[in-house]
Amino acid sequence: MQNENVADVIIIGGGMSGLSAAHELAKVGLSVAIYEKSDNVGGKMRNYYDEQGKYLGEHGFRVFTGRYFNTLALFDELGIRNNLQASSANHYLKDCMISCIPAKNNFSGIKTLFKNFWLKFKNLGIKDFLGYISAVKKIIKASQLSTKDLDVLDNITIAQYLEIDKYPPFTRSYFHRTCRFTNAIDINEGSIFCLAQQTGSFLSEATRFGGKGFLYSLTSPTTEAFINPWINELNRLGVKINKNKTVREIICTDDKKQVKSIKLEDGKLLHAKCFIIATQLEEAIQLAPGINQAELLINSHKIFSGIQFHLKESSTNKLPKGSGIHSLLDSPWEISLAHQDKGMWPDYKFSEDFDSILSIVITCWLEKGIKIKKSALDCNREELIEEILFQINYHKNFSIDPSSIVRWYIDPTLLYDKEKNKFVGSSSKLYCPRVGEYKHRPDSVTPIDNLFVCGEYTKTVYQISSMESANESGRRAAKATAKYLGLDTELIKIYE
Ligand SMILES: Cc1cc2nc3c(=O)[nH]c(=O)nc-3n(C[C@H](O)[C@H](O)[C@H](O)COP(=O)(O)OP(=O)(O)OC[C@H]3O[C@@H](n4cnc5c(N)ncnc54)[C@H](O)[C@@H]3O)c2cc1C
Repeated sequence: MQNENVADVIIIGGGMSGLSAAHELAKVGLSVAIYEKSDNVGGKMRNYYDEQGKYLGEHGFRVFTGRYFNTLALFDELGIRNNLQASSANHYLKDCMISCIPAKNNFSGIKTLFKNFWLKFKNLGIKDFLGYISAVKKIIKASQLSTKDLDVLDNITIAQYLEIDKYPPFTRSYFHRTCRFTNAIDINEGSIFCLAQQTGSFLSEATRFGGKGFLYSLTSPTTEAFINPWINELNRLGVKINKNKTVREIICTDDKKQVKSIKLEDGKLLHAKCFIIATQLEEAIQLAPGINQAELLINSHKIFSGIQFHLKESSTNKLPKGSGIHSLLDSPWEISLAHQDKGMWPDYKFSEDFDSILSIVITCWLEKGIKIKKSALDCNREELIEEILFQINYHKNFSIDPSSIVRWYIDPTLLYDKEKNKFVGSSSKLYCPRVGEYKHRPDSVTPIDNLFVCGEYTKTVYQISSMESANESGRRAAKATAKYLGLDTELIKIYE
């Protein structure tokens, strides 16, 4: 078996958290090597190309809020802030759809917020209107409670805190769906602490004078607008990125106080002074069983993924224009869609045979569909497509002419059992935090002296799984690693 000392720090996983940790450590002068199991870095925020390098679509879609202090600082540092654009979607809740709020500046944001609010409620009864106001007031109040109240608030579900049963059906369903769509949390499972902290801080940043605004999206695919410029900088700093390298094992000393090495799939052993696990939750548990109770979070690791339609222009297609996310409140699979067309990316050239991409995420994989009457997880590929198209056409605002579909492309991280002819899971699940879990989320430090962890599921100020929480966690793991190695940790910034 070969032994190799590769760097001061080895990072397992090259998603947002692993790249962030690598960046911070390289800046303080350490040598860093990333080992990434797939053929490219980026993890859940990457997009896909075919073998000829043609863009196939995003793994989901990328939305940034004004509250992403760490991520926005990274964009500034890389000099790519212009690659973010204000989102331009509208709210159409009265027609069973929500979508994100634009971010041009705070004034236009607030104006749109009021306009959307009016659009939303002008056709509803007074009970719904008052119910909504009362629930929003409660969320804002919870966001103002101090983190001292964390233990109490983290043990109360959103539904309990809002006393959701008291509201009329529309308001109940509105909160249920918006929480799922915007935060990937269920009001009966997520804690009010999680929601209040995220929504409250986001709203205050959006409305604060001089704040950073509402929502942003990228001006082209994530790899081109964000990941590639970042990789260039990491290369400049000497970070070694090893793709298609799966880490199979972490080998510790007999007293379990130190990691000695990691073992790759081919049996090769690699040494370093420190190691950082930056994988998804399930992989982290397999690599380091028992670290900081992370196993307790496993039921909150869920499929959150979808499909891309490559479309030719058609006069009968009714699809969103502009750069927002649109969530269909009347869809049992809780479908959200983003339309990457000239309205979203005016200068982007797609492959010659299609004009735009409709990117779909299914949030609820267990609920029965309307047409096929099966859950998304129980469908075969063709049934999945048929049901998605049916749910989009069923929704009042949108429709797709089937003849405009050039092809569809299912997210390759979705696992498909060819014998059973159905979906069986995902290799890239999302951590959807649940009530009472905050105390179980691992810190960046572990009981093993030279082993650290980061990732969306670890303890961060920004608690909802996102590029921001992953970026923050990478910075935290870098700081802990630098401290262990006796370096000046002041240089590693965490923006709260
Ligand atoms: C569909 C979808 C839409 C989203 N939309 C948004 C959005 O609009 N805005 C937002 O802020 N966030 C969004 N998110 C969330 C955000 O993308 C993630 O929270 C974040 O990217 C997670 O980063 P991470 O580093 O924690 O994990 P990951 O991205 O999962 O990275 C983990 C990496 O580790 C690698 N790995 C795993 N096991 C091993 C191993 N044994 N050896 C080597 N490498 C390994 C994986 O291949 C992967 O690259 C979305 C997520 C999804 C799924």
